[in-house]
Amino acid sequence: MSDVILRAQGVGKRFGGFTALQGVDFEVCAGERLGLIGPNGSGKSTFTNCLAGAFPSHDGAFTFKGEALAGLKGHERARRGLARTFQLPRPFRGLSVIENVRVPLAYGARHDATDARAMECLESVELAAKAHRMPKELTQVELRRLELARATALRPDLLIADEAMAGLSHAEVDQILALLFRLNAAGTTIIMIEHVMRAVTEFSQRLAVFVAGRKVADGEPHAVLSMPEVEEAYLGK
Ligand code: ADP
Ligand code: MG
Repeated sequence: MSDVILRAQGVGKRFGGFTALQGVDFEVCAGERLGLIGPNGSGKSTFTNCLAGAFPSHDGAFTFKGEALAGLKGHERARRGLARTFQLPRPFRGLSVIENVRVPLAYGARHDATDARAMECLESVELAAKAHRMPKELTQVELRRLELARATALRPDLLIADEAMAGLSHAEVDQILALLFRLNAAGTTIIMIEHVMRAVTEFSQRLAVFVAGRKVADGEPHAVLSMPEVEEAYLGK
């Protein structure tokens, strides 16, 4: 598999006078499992936000499935098959679990925005039994699974999972990991942003590292992790 599904060229983002991201070049192949790591504040979520269209403007360009993303709004990118989860789960608190999944289905203008399809999404994350509960009744790992169900409801080609495992127990990390492996096996390209090193090394075929808004490494995971600048910037902190 060597078709490039996503290409980022010279991506940069400033917040006022602060440069959060600079000169980031990135390629992701269709079907790939890529890990993206880096210290807190290194620009991983900012990169995700730029890619997903959460910010009106940034430097550089993204090409997704051969199409330039410039000027496309977040929901337009979602319709093209680009999905992301939020680092802090963002369910609609006033909607039940199944209603939360119906929102992206309806928003994505799918003809199959039905209860059956919403249920299928919940089954895929093992949350069907909680379909009619409210988000506040869910545990932390269930909220993470709901976040994944919402992100993958439109069967995205590319999913960016932004710290989907933060704060979870060892067993819960394994549940999310298995879920992401299943999604990938079903054809979804996945970028996993993660601090849980055990999970990211098990999952990733390739590892990229951000430090202070720049990509400092990109390659075979074990080779990347043994680079002195990566050890120093990331693991040694
Ligand atoms: P990471 O996800 O790698 O932890 P972020 O991309 O969230 O890092 O943040 C990178 C830097 O950009 C941080 O210093 C953060 O404070 C800053 N930043 C992120 N989002 C915003 C924003 N909306 N406004 C101002 N500064 C931001
Ligand atoms: Mg982040």
